[in-house]
Amino acid sequence: MNSDERAAIADEVRRTVRDIPDFPKPGILFRDITPVLANPSLFGKVMVAIASPFERQGITHVVSIESRGFILGAPVALELRAAFVPVRKPGRLPSATVREDYTLEYGTDALEMHADALRGAKGVLVVDDVLATGGTAAATCRLVERAGGKVFACAFMIELAALGGRARLAGTRADSLITY
Ligand code: AMP
Repeated sequence: MNSDERAAIADEVRRTVRDIPDFPKPGILFRDITPVLANPSLFGKVMVAIASPFERQGITHVVSIESRGFILGAPVALELRAAFVPVRKPGRLPSATVREDYTLEYGTDALEMHADALRGAKGVLVVDDVLATGGTAAATCRLVERAGGKVFACAFMIELAALGGRARLAGTRADSLITY
């Protein structure tokens, strides 16, 4: 996919994402991706746009974060013929896990991944829908390292630049289709 095609898809995504003020709490402008998912032609193009920079880059595993990350990560993994690895909230994964705690605006949260999920991994791509403060993606990168993998890059559909998430991923390549 060339840069003009990518820019056209980004424009269509920008026109299609729905902004919901004050969700889930006052002061948050929620970027609702469900209208993109409801448009199969656009959804398909978004998948290719997210995956195409990573073709022939040796990506063996795509790691995604529940739950909206799964919606994008699974088709991107198939597109790249890579293994799909889910990262989940504590207590959801059935086998032995590795865990990372991370801070939120108020309080802390944690994420888990199966400890053996990256066995044989060469290149790992982390995929999520939105890069906001970067706390979730940074914790996921630490999980990948903890499980013995190496993050090649992180890829997002949407980046909220004002929240500075990119800085929290310092040293890791971060691609986003559209930036607000
Ligand atoms: P963060 O850890 O702050 O980068 O937050 C990332 C996660 O929060 C992503 O998985 C998003 O699904 C979600 N998120 C944060 N802010 C927004 C927003 N304004 N609109 C939609 N999703 C958001």
